[in-house]
Amino acid sequence: MQIAIIGTGYVGLPTGVGLADLGHKVICIDREKSKIEKLRKGEITLFENGLEDLLKKNLQNGNIHFTTSMKEGINNADIVLIAVGTPPHPITKEADMKYVHAAATELAQYLNKYTVIATKSTVPVGTGDAIECLITKTNPQADFDVVSLPEFLREGFAVYDFFNPDRIVIGTDSERAKLLLRELYQPFAEKSELLFVKRRSSETIKYASNAFLAIKIHYINEMADFCEKANADIQEVSKGMGLDSRIGNKFLNPGPGYGGSCFPKDTHAMHFMAKQNGVDLTLIEAAIKGNEKRKQNIAKKIISKVSHIKSPKVAVLGLAFKGGTDDCRESPAMEIIFEILKCNIDIIAFDPKGIKNAQEILGDRIEFADDMYSVADNADILVILTEWDDFRCCDLERISSKMRNKIIFDTRNLFDLEIVEKLGFSYNRIGK
Ligand code: NAD
Repeated sequence: MQIAIIGTGYVGLPTGVGLADLGHKVICIDREKSKIEKLRKGEITLFENGLEDLLKKNLQNGNIHFTTSMKEGINNADIVLIAVGTPPHPITKEADMKYVHAAATELAQYLNKYTVIATKSTVPVGTGDAIECLITKTNPQADFDVVSLPEFLREGFAVYDFFNPDRIVIGTDSERAKLLLRELYQPFAEKSELLFVKRRSSETIKYASNAFLAIKIHYINEMADFCEKANADIQEVSKGMGLDSRIGNKFLNPGPGYGGSCFPKDTHAMHFMAKQNGVDLTLIEAAIKGNEKRKQNIAKKIISKVSHIKSPKVAVLGLAFKGGTDDCRESPAMEIIFEILKCNIDIIAFDPKGIKNAQEILGDRIEFADDMYSVADNADILVILTEWDDFRCCDLERISSKMRNKIIFDTRNLFDLEIVEKLGFSYNRIGK
């Protein structure tokens, strides 16, 4: 099948590479020339485990191509996947649809046979109808269906998730579109459910899922606060809760708050849509407020640990919003660092993959270290903000020998209390 993908970001690129690996002819379109030039050479533009090898393989066998030209990409495509960003509007926080609408308007003029246009981007309910109108207005002769095809892959596991999806949700009433999408997802038909629903239900499923996960994280974070006061242990509580199959053991790790390019923006967008429809979604509202407050509270606690020290130095391990990715968009680490900087405290930080993206957000406000041990040089407190496995396995004795004061503030509960205390650290964790 001939597939065009608009947008080569965290969704578009792994999806394109995955589809090419299944044997489809894929052409990825992005308006950023520098990205396309790198991708053509087999250089990845974002970090995802296993992506680079798969990209190189499919460039070599000719299954994937990259272009900045919408015309070249759309010509003869059977399916067009829209995977452009839907960032929050700076004021209203609703999903900003300018990239999706621009892509739909631009692609419309090149439709020259029956084509399925599917939105992989997370889009507000009713977007399918809006895209339909835009395409018909631009190209009244176009023969097409607009389908909602929400993406559920997890950053850091995008390649694995592409080949092992939990479910594939397809929002359409068109039998013609269903036939084509059944064929596209045939390789997954045995191991994952193909769920055909109304387009508006499909658009809602994506927001409802992300909002639910955000609420679950917010819930366990509040429970961690309770454990700290009640002298209980959140890890024991999470384990006990997770053994109940109705609750499930995922998303029960407390931390510095949820972040990334999806949960914060999607909860805001869902909240906005609810208001538009005159519905109260009080749990989502509470999660949004609580999550914002949480990052400030964590920063306050970190500051309080070093406020008695003259010219304290804070060493940060972890900048990405979670382990396994270089993505720092809405990372709790960014906000916590900005809060600490308000007190004129020096910060040095390291992340295995996220430094380049963090530098774009933080500029030269903080120093960046070359490895996880040099952050500790003369530091007064070591703050863990991302749950990278490299940090979990670090040589704490080596870190301890470099620090001026031996304080650890671990927002991810990575270490064993006994080991850390034996090395003379004061160990501060979450929900303990
Ligand atoms: P991204 O910002 O990483 O990538 C978007 C890409 O689209 C950019 O490279 C941009 O240059 C390109 N683009 C924008 N407008 C274009 C146009 N008119 N023509 C060609 N290229 C254009 O975004 P992302 O993280 O991949 O997210 C994309 C969408 O998928 C969002 O709606 C997001 O909510 C959703 N989503 C993201 C994830 C995730 O893990 N990041 C998971 C599920 C769903």
